[in-house]
Formats: sequence, C-alpha cells, structure tokens
Amino acid sequence: MTVVALDDTDSRERGMCTTYVAVRIADRLPDVERLLLVRLNPAVPYKTRGNAALAIHADCDPERAVSIAREELEELAEITDDRTNPGLVVAGHDPGDVPDDVREFAGTAVRDHLEIDDATTLIERHSYRTWYAGDGRGRIGALAAIGAWRAFEDWTYECLSYREPDRWGSPRDVDGESVFAAADWGYPVVWDTVDRGENDPVCVPHTPGPILHGIRGDDPDAVREVARRIESEPIERRQLFCTNQGTDGHLRNGSLGDVEDGRAYRVDGVVASEPETRRGGHVFFSLAADLEGGDDATDDSDRLECAAFEPTKRFRDRVRALQVGDRITACGEVSRGTCKLEKVAVRERVRTERVTPSCPDCGRTMESAGRNQGYRCRDCGTSAAGKDEVALERDLEEGWYEVPPCARRHIAKPLVRGGFDAPTHPER
Ligand code: ATP
Repeated sequence: MTVVALDDTDSRERGMCTTYVAVRIADRLPDVERLLLVRLNPAVPYKTRGNAALAIHADCDPERAVSIAREELEELAEITDDRTNPGLVVAGHDPGDVPDDVREFAGTAVRDHLEIDDATTLIERHSYRTWYAGDGRGRIGALAAIGAWRAFEDWTYECLSYREPDRWGSPRDVDGESVFAAADWGYPVVWDTVDRGENDPVCVPHTPGPILHGIRGDDPDAVREVARRIESEPIERRQLFCTNQGTDGHLRNGSLGDVEDGRAYRVDGVVASEPETRRGGHVFFSLAADLEGGDDATDDSDRLECAAFEPTKRFRDRVRALQVGDRITACGEVSRGTCKLEKVAVRERVRTERVTPSCPDCGRTMESAGRNQGYRCRDCGTSAAGKDEVALERDLEEGWYEVPPCARRHIAKPLVRGGFDAPTHPER
C-alpha cells in the first residue's frame, strides 16, 4: 500500500479546493481504498479556511504516485498565490504501519503548532518521497494526513458533490426544500446538513470553489443517500471521504490558569461574572477556578474570559441563562486570552438565591436595620437576622449545550453523535 498526502493547494480568492485535487489524483491511481479528509488545528494562522489536509490510500507504486500527484498539483494548485504553499508527501507503506513519531506528529498537528522543520526531519528520517512549492508549509498538513490513520480512532464520513467546472464561481442552483427533506430523512445519523433554527442549508458552501454540497454523518451509505436525494444543478462527480470531522479531536483537557492561545480546551470552572451582552451581540462572562469555597475567584490568573460570539446565534441564549456560581465545563479555542465557546456542559446549577426578607405580617420588603444588624419592617416592627434563601427558577437544565449547525467548526463534535458524559441538548 501507498499513502499519498497533500495540503495547501488553494487560495482564498481563486478558490481551488484540496479535496478536489485529491479526487483528481485518486482518479488516476489504481486500487484506491479510501480518501481521508483530515482537519488540523483550527487555530493555525496559515489556514485558508478549514485547515484540511488529504490522504489517499491506494495499492500502487509510490514512485508512480509521486509523478501523478505532482502533475495534478502543478496543474491545479494556486501556486501563483504566495500564501499557497503546496506540499506532497508519499509513504510507501500500509496506512496502519505509520511509525510512532509520525502518528504523534498528526496528534500535534490537530492540537498544537508545528514548524516546517518538524515535518522535514520526519520526512527524511522515514525516507518519504516529497514535493513542494513556495515555502512548502503544506508538507506539515500532508505528513499529518499520513499519520492520521493511526493517530485518531473516531472517524466520520462526508460525501462531497462537485460542480461542473464551467459553473465554478457562479451562484449555486440547489433546491432548498429537497435539502431540508433529505436532512430530515438522514437525521440523526447524518448531521449538520441544515440549520433548522436559522433555516440555513449549511451543507451548501458560499465560497467560490468547486463543491456544490457536503453531507456529513456517521454512516457512509446514509451520507451518500442524503446527497443523492438533493435536487440541484448537474453534479460533475461525487466522492466519499473518511474524516475526523465532528470528533472534537482538537480539544485537550486543560485547567484554568494554564490555558494558552492558539489551542482548544475542555476546562472546568465556576461562572464568576454575570453573562454580559456587548456591542455586536457577543456574550461574555468570566470563568473562575473550581476551588472549594471559591477562594480563588478573585485571583485574575485563574480566571478565563469566555465568549459566545454573535454568529453562534441561539447558543447565546443558553449562555445568557448561566448564573454566577454555576459549575460548568467550557469547550473552545483560546484566542487572545478569550475562550471562544463551542459547547458548554452545565454540571451544577445554583438553585437558590439570597433575597432581602419580607415582613411576615404585612408582606412588604424589609429594610436594613444597619450594618450587620439584620432587617426590620418599619411599619410592623418585625425583624429578621439576615437574608432569606429562596428557590431560583432556572431556564437552563444540566447537561451539554452546543452552538447550532450554522456555527459549527468542522472538527467540533455535534451532541447528536452521543458519547458525552452528561445529558445532551442537541441543536439541529
Ligand atoms: P486547503 O483547502 O487549501 O487545504 P485550508 O483552510 O485547509 O485550505 P491550507 O491552505 O491547507 O488551509 O493552509 C494551512 C497550512 O497550515 C498548511 O500549509 C498546513 O501544512 C499548515 N498547518 C496545518 N496544521 C498546522 C499546525 N498544527 N502547525 C503549523 N502549520 C500547520
């Protein structure tokens, strides 16, 4: 077996797409077993859009694979864009025989940052064949796509349908009703096809590239069938990819105080400030270390600002419903000290609040009787030693909440997939 891996072929303006280059290469290789679409660290600054890298598993001669892949890359990659730095890496072994250091490289590429030298060192060590253009940064993603098969265990599927080339760049002709009907047919095995709350067919991209729609899910036959049910302009070709999309592969378990920019975390804490809606509709609150007694709640180093940005739409209502004292797990990428929330688990809600007591005789709210002297009712002369504790009505349940499909990152795991450690409230 041979693994042919590539990355970084498209530009934001011109809109090629690395998946399409991979399909073209795969067309010319004999005995293709599968195509992998691997999403790497969504926080890397070099990405064009979704930080994807591709690998083809085929039973062919590695030397021949290199020359075919080179030809296609030279023809299709947007090499004239100086931010496009294509890389090709070809491994002449079975995808399951990836060496440990290449497997680890793939894990790091999803959760952390790498240098081009990190890739070239391993490429040389394992005598992989390689080709690149520009600064060859694409070799990072390509090598990660080689390691992916051993690095990750959770795999999902995407069926991509491509447009006829003369239509690229023109408005897409897809029948909306058929998209929603097909999405209903496929749910819950097929997910993130549409956003019902926003009435948005999210499977149809807006970027200028060759993709007409992409259908994601847990079952290869079901994603193909949903794609088939969508009525649209002619499809040039369809291709099934095995992917790490929808797996939360980017999240690492962290603790408040040691999170770093450019990485994504799962972190436990206590809501330490009331959620506040700021200009632009973004909702912010701060999360404090989850210590008994909350002693550290005032220590800034153990606080993390969390944000539900405007594009996360109705998720912001769930975040606004949080209250100071709620224990939660927050998930998202940390960027400039702020955690951009992708999902939140409400672990333990504050169930009571302390309020100024009411007079047992007249029912009116009592007044303070002076510092540390409790409360009294001026009219009736009744008194109370301190505040009353009353039950709090909460518009939020325990369990996991998530951003809606229209705001989902490729790699983020939709709640509908299951396997979470608390009840879930999936968006669809
Ligand atoms: P495309 O469809 O072209 O793949 P994209 O959004 O996936 O678009 P790329 O153009 O591939 O983005 O750009 C991402 C670049 O960042 C690639 O050169 C890739 O090798 C590199 N890269 C990926 N992951 C990392 C990482 N963890 N650290 C450093 N560089 C990375």
